[in-house]
Amino acid sequence: MSLIVQKFGGSSVANAERVMNVASIVTDTYAKGNDVVVVVSAQGDTTDDLIEKANEINPKASKREKDMLLAAGEQISISLLAMAIEKLGYHAVSLLGWQAGFNTTSAHTSARIRKVEPDRIKKELDKKNIVIVAGFQGISKYGDITTLGRGGSDTSAVAIAAAMHADLCQIFTDVEGVYTADPRKVKNAKKLQEISYDEMLELATLGAQVLNNRSVEMAKKYNIELEVLSSMTKASGTIVKEKTKMEKMLISGVIADMIMFAELGIKADGAFIETVHIRHAGEIHCRAVFQNEVVVQVGRNSGAIGFHKKSFLLYRWSSVYKNQTGRDVDLRRNKSHTPVSVRVVYAGGSGDRTGIVFLV
Ligand code: ADP
Ligand code: ASP
Ligand code: MG
Repeated sequence: MSLIVQKFGGSSVANAERVMNVASIVTDTYAKGNDVVVVVSAQGDTTDDLIEKANEINPKASKREKDMLLAAGEQISISLLAMAIEKLGYHAVSLLGWQAGFNTTSAHTSARIRKVEPDRIKKELDKKNIVIVAGFQGISKYGDITTLGRGGSDTSAVAIAAAMHADLCQIFTDVEGVYTADPRKVKNAKKLQEISYDEMLELATLGAQVLNNRSVEMAKKYNIELEVLSSMTKASGTIVKEKTKMEKMLISGVIADMIMFAELGIKADGAFIETVHIRHAGEIHCRAVFQNEVVVQVGRNSGAIGFHKKSFLLYRWSSVYKNQTGRDVDLRRNKSHTPVSVRVVYAGGSGDRTGIVFLV
């Protein structure tokens, strides 16, 4: 028997049919003999709608009151999911953040988790209940309801997994995993089988909201392996963990204010295949031809290219960037250049802006 934490985002519980779908995923896991703790977000656009409601009344409302309002979104989801699970003939109990032991700082609207005291969750599991916890929320030392910032339910799930030493933490969402680019914006984005914490952190920081960046930081800190997968299909997802097949991928540097994009054209034989244009202030600065898989996604925060190790390629590249404004350079023509395998991953977000570069 394992302890499994399953987190479902807003789109996964957006309407009654989807809530029933989640109930069946959860009860299937339970029926296999596992203890299951479920973390859910507010339904669909509920959080945005609540923010709008607050703004209609008082755009300058105190953050304490905003938290009180926003936490309501997750309360709706947990109770509906518990009802759906009951309907399928299983026992479930829903818990708000404070009931589940989420102690946070008092920084309303962006509180940090201080500790999770999962006694109540444990008691409910002992009673053979499926436990459903409201993501995104907790309680401050003053006894006030807090929220963790947008996308915070991912962090709630990882925090429970860490506090309870869960065997598995699954993040169910509306895409089949982590892609080399936002699959809704880049049509040939590829699903990654696995990705390291550092890569994922960089992606999340650059705007790939598929995982909240604080959740990735926490997963790395407590070494919680995450599986990102779809709640709508049964396809295998992406594993986020410390070591991936592509090792030595630590990001060692960041260049600010660089804007880049890639033209995808990967050939099956993996020869020189990719043309990456690097742009700054709208002009192409250099055209580098890399080896192996290169995919770049644009991010919403402009300017940051991270790379792993100093290499001739990077040196050339950055010197081209600095010195030869406007000129195209084909790095293959330089005999002293040792080809390195490069994997460029665009972060999510909008607009042709930023990429991060992983040298392996
Ligand atoms: P949830 O409601 O399940 O928390 P989110 O909307 O927060 O889901 O995150 C999932 C969305 O993240 C996807 O619908 C997708 O458009 C977006 N996204 C951005 N970048 C990526 C990426 N690199 N891989 C996967 N999804 C991404
Ligand atoms: N409902 C919250 C939000 O929309 C938390 C989350 O979805 O993770 O940001
Ligand atoms: Mg999310």
